[in-house]
Amino acid sequence: MTEVAGRAWQVVVDCVTCNTEGAATEVHAEGAEHPLTSTCAVCGRETASGELVSGGADMRDPEVARQALAAWAEREGLSSEGLADAVIGLPLEEVVHRYAHGHPVPTNLDVIAFLFPGMAAGAAPKGVNVAVGEVESAREVERTPDDPRAPARVLVSVMLADGTLTGAERGYIDRFLAAHGMEPLTPQELRPWRPHELGPLRDRELAEATLQAAVELMHLDAVRDGSELRIVRTYARVWGVDEAKITAWDRHYDRHYAPPMSSVWRALSRWVR
Ligand SMILES: [Zn+2]
Repeated sequence: MTEVAGRAWQVVVDCVTCNTEGAATEVHAEGAEHPLTSTCAVCGRETASGELVSGGADMRDPEVARQALAAWAEREGLSSEGLADAVIGLPLEEVVHRYAHGHPVPTNLDVIAFLFPGMAAGAAPKGVNVAVGEVESAREVERTPDDPRAPARVLVSVMLADGTLTGAERGYIDRFLAAHGMEPLTPQELRPWRPHELGPLRDRELAEATLQAAVELMHLDAVRDGSELRIVRTYARVWGVDEAKITAWDRHYDRHYAPPMSSVWRALSRWVR
């Protein structure tokens, strides 16, 4: 972790070398012309105060790309295939192919950055401010398959996606947990949880009930933006829940909660999400 005096923040940007979306983390300090550091999680390109420290691996070489992906996956506690699926959303070989041709590689890393509080969700399309330190603390947690607290953590992450924590949202989550025989939220759980931190949930019924509750939770606050829905979709992918169900629940709660004018607006804005 970088210690700096004054205000410092992290920004997630696309890597200029390997073309991976949201893979480079820049640490900025107030008043500094260049980022203090910039590090790509994939190719390893690194700069310090604007100077190139390491050019990064040549991802056009398929062997180098496979090795770089394996190393990244290991740091995340995933297999290469698991990482390609959970973070990139493509089969591993397709990812290697994209690197070989220099094509941009899409990821949900910017969505994951949205999960961290302290920034206005949706305010910045690419660069999302995160308080230095929060990303690190998220990494320390062990990933457990079928973690009994996974539903609570998904819901709290969706609740925090817009940067606010209202009593109504908190109450909704505690009622959901009680209805499913789970303990209420603990103060330690009140932070965003990254989708692959939670691991798979094999109880299909519970996975679907949780994501449906996440969609309803998203509609509880009148102001919602596309980022919350993208986060729910990311969890759905990790848990193997059909995306069509998410869309159907979204429409259902839209009709249920939205005042008439705003539902027209939302129907229109769905096209541009
Ligand atoms: Zn890179």
